[in-house]
Amino acid sequence: MKFAVIGDPVAHSLSPAMHTAAYRALGMDHTYEAIRVPSGSVATELDRLTADGYTGVNVTVPLKEEAIAWSAPDAFAKRVQAVNTIDLRSRHGINTDGPGFVRWLASLNVSTADSVLLLGAGGSARALAFAMVEAGYPLTIWNRTSERAMSLAGACGARATAEPDPSDYQVVVNATSASMGSGGDLPSPSRPGMGIAIDLYYSQATTSFLQVFGDAGWQTYDGRELLVAQGALAFEFWLGLPAPVEAMRAAVGL
Ligand code: NDP
Repeated sequence: MKFAVIGDPVAHSLSPAMHTAAYRALGMDHTYEAIRVPSGSVATELDRLTADGYTGVNVTVPLKEEAIAWSAPDAFAKRVQAVNTIDLRSRHGINTDGPGFVRWLASLNVSTADSVLLLGAGGSARALAFAMVEAGYPLTIWNRTSERAMSLAGACGARATAEPDPSDYQVVVNATSASMGSGGDLPSPSRPGMGIAIDLYYSQATTSFLQVFGDAGWQTYDGRELLVAQGALAFEFWLGLPAPVEAMRAAVGL
């Protein structure tokens, strides 16, 4: 079987290494490649991949919203307006970012009694917000542009806040793209603590967001955790088998 991730840019993606490691761990010779697809070309490219016999694709930035139009999205993907996993045989499209993130949070023993502060109101924040509220987490959303935080909170049933102190929460998730640049001006904890800080971004270096929380005593996790969590659900969706998560984690350096 042939699989791929489409996005722009996509050359940096760890998905090919991660999925290939999963196939090899189970003795499968499936392939998984990264294909750069510019915005506006998703439908043409998905038609081509289907005709070429590809079984499934992951969809990454900035194509997740566009992929909805080509696929038959399930109810959750429609709610969050983004598809990141498609079965090309059926056109069935799902979003594994939100459910994958929630499954991973549960694996950290984060309970629905723990309060969560979500930073950001973009595409990834939207998927995580809906999934966390639906799983029962008490969720508060902050965003640089506060109107977007209020709008997302209203849509998913969370609270919005303009000036949060992360120290008041057990879990803080950075779903902004600030870490892709200089780090931005994000809320920081007012006192040392023992909470969990998660940055969805991943790179070779620690982000300034995780550095600040780590220095304050928090447990820190980078975006490779979400990468594996959403990838494991995609693997299970396409192949109907439990994903070999340890092989996938090792492939991304966890
Ligand atoms: P979007 O472009 O949809 O949203 C960007 C968000 O970041 C907005 O809320 C925006 O706020 C905020 N933002 C941007 N710059 C700054 C800044 N300097 N300071 C504060 N806030 C800022 O991005 P995505 O949701 O697609 O991606 C967000 C992050 O998640 C990226 O770092 C991406 O790499 C990561 N990601 C990781 C994945 C993984 O598998 N690990 C999967 C998907 C995404 P405003 O509304 O004010 O503009």
